[in-house]
Amino acid sequence: MNTNSDVKIYEYDAVIVGAGLAGLAAAKELTAAGKKTAVITKLHPLRSHSGAAQGGINAALGKDDSTELHEFDTVKGSDYLADQDAVELMCTKAPETIRWAERMGTVFSRDEEGDIAIRPFGGQSKPRACYAKDRTGLALLQAIYEQAFREGIEVFDEWYAGDMIYKDGKVSGVVAYDIRNSKVAVFNAKVTMFATGGNGRLYRFNSNAHANTGDSLSIVARHGLPLEDMEFVQFHPSGLGGSGILISEAARGEGGRLYNSLGERFMEKYAPNAMELASRDVVSRAIMEEVRQGRGVGKDGQSVNIDLTHLDPQIILTRLPELRELAIAFQGQDMLKEPIHISATAHYSMGGIPTNINCQVRKSPTELVEGFYAAGECACVSVHGANRLGANSVLEALLFGRHAGENMIKALDEGASLRKATAADADTFVEELTRIKTSNGTERVPELRTELQNGMTADAGVFRTKESLDRQLKLINSLLKRFKNIRIDDKSKTFNTDLQEAIELGHMLESAKFVVEGALVREESRGGHYREDFPTRDDKKFLKHTYAYMDKDYNVSIEWGDVVLGKFEPKERTY
Ligand SMILES: Cc1cc2nc3c(=O)[nH]c(=O)nc-3n(C[C@H](O)[C@H](O)[C@H](O)COP(=O)(O)OP(=O)(O)OC[C@H]3O[C@@H](n4cnc5c(N)ncnc54)[C@H](O)[C@@H]3O)c2cc1C
Repeated sequence: MNTNSDVKIYEYDAVIVGAGLAGLAAAKELTAAGKKTAVITKLHPLRSHSGAAQGGINAALGKDDSTELHEFDTVKGSDYLADQDAVELMCTKAPETIRWAERMGTVFSRDEEGDIAIRPFGGQSKPRACYAKDRTGLALLQAIYEQAFREGIEVFDEWYAGDMIYKDGKVSGVVAYDIRNSKVAVFNAKVTMFATGGNGRLYRFNSNAHANTGDSLSIVARHGLPLEDMEFVQFHPSGLGGSGILISEAARGEGGRLYNSLGERFMEKYAPNAMELASRDVVSRAIMEEVRQGRGVGKDGQSVNIDLTHLDPQIILTRLPELRELAIAFQGQDMLKEPIHISATAHYSMGGIPTNINCQVRKSPTELVEGFYAAGECACVSVHGANRLGANSVLEALLFGRHAGENMIKALDEGASLRKATAADADTFVEELTRIKTSNGTERVPELRTELQNGMTADAGVFRTKESLDRQLKLINSLLKRFKNIRIDDKSKTFNTDLQEAIELGHMLESAKFVVEGALVREESRGGHYREDFPTRDDKKFLKHTYAYMDKDYNVSIEWGDVVLGKFEPKERTY
């Protein structure tokens, strides 16, 4: 063993990995309650992907809206796979969460009466997305960060968490390294939380930040713990054609219309009532179907048009200024003057680390891990089921992040104890770092990553079949082997991005395997998961969550867990 005297050991009441909305909301609550808390983040908190959220955050604030209607839309949008107790908690607490965010200093856009403005979003019966122009995530993240900072949170930024300490059913902290100098440390804690965001970078076309490599998913899985519903990936209908950079659903919410190359407003065929504001899975499939039928636009015919030119230019200039700038900068298209090219882009992971309604991580469908919490996009408390409604994710991250913080405070007050860590707890991660740094094989990390991403988009994307998924599984298995034979050129200890990207690729390969294995066993179509060979939803067999486990040789086995049903009986979705 590599027991390393160089490894520093920090002790905390609580350690949180991730400084997006979920991690910061929890950290703020813990620090305010006097708990010694460390936040570990590979980016500066304000660079977390939460800051890129554009369109809005849902709460039933409208005069003719209700939290029950918000619940119904969320459950229907989830294709009835969401756990209804968690949905009820989220929707009933949403208005209070908005007021809390406002008290923290978030400046929301206002309507003519001076109330918080709300706009329509897909799959929702009423306008309920509160927003700050088209920079909602940034407004929220800055406010929550400021308040957490004021409470005195301790942030270890530019630190990369690579392993957790898990023994006898209890998690007692994480192992991380300082990206500045490659020094490894153990963060020993009474309670630990993961809030590491999504894994959209698995796909060639995606809307996600470079950092969204889903590290914590495989960290958890490497310890034999399950991941839930990983087959459900959300493809957002409007990524800029070619790059996948997001054009928020706010563009359709404010009245944007979709056209194919024949000038047909094609949503009439797919969702005659909701049209462009059907839920994201429905609109994404419609776009891809038009492209497959040869009715796409753009140089390669892989996009469709979104047209906003009929809107009052003031709407674009005051409510969508950033979207306009993005389309001009990346595509040279000005939405004030012409339609812009968009295409479906990988956006969000509905699945993740399974938790109960109190954000405690599950060891199996019925057992919990001691001292371990997760919230935000990396978690699956299952409020989104098979498909997430736009503007429900920022809400989930903020609300369940706070909720996790409150539950961790409770656990600490009830006497959660510190199981002392030693430097030996860092051995597995130190070995991984040494192996990668000294690797002198023939394979290159960027090439393996590109092969993975191209394969995921082509074979585990909007449309899936057994044949395409088998092909992608074979590819991932061969990439996992080739990954053992990589070479990185940078051997230095200072800001070694070659090293970090190699570690991240390891995590991506493993979480991609969960997506594909889950998609293979789920022989039905539900929400974001569409099997062309099983095109209908099958509630008899598959109104269940998948719980997938990985062994040391990357073999994945699947068990099924119950969905928490409630007042909304599963029905066919129509739009
Ligand atoms: C372009 C875009 C627009 C969006 N718009 C909306 C919207 O309008 N409304 C909505 O509801 N949702 C939106 N979403 C989704 C939503 O923004 C995210 O799901 C949500 O913000 C995730 O928050 P989080 O706190 O879970 O994670 P993030 O904000 O992604 O933060 C993850 C944190 O984990 C840290 N981290 C990750 N791995 C490690 C590691 N190994 N070691 C240390 N630190 C690590 C990162 O540094 C970061 O601080 C959008 C997403 C995108 C990509």
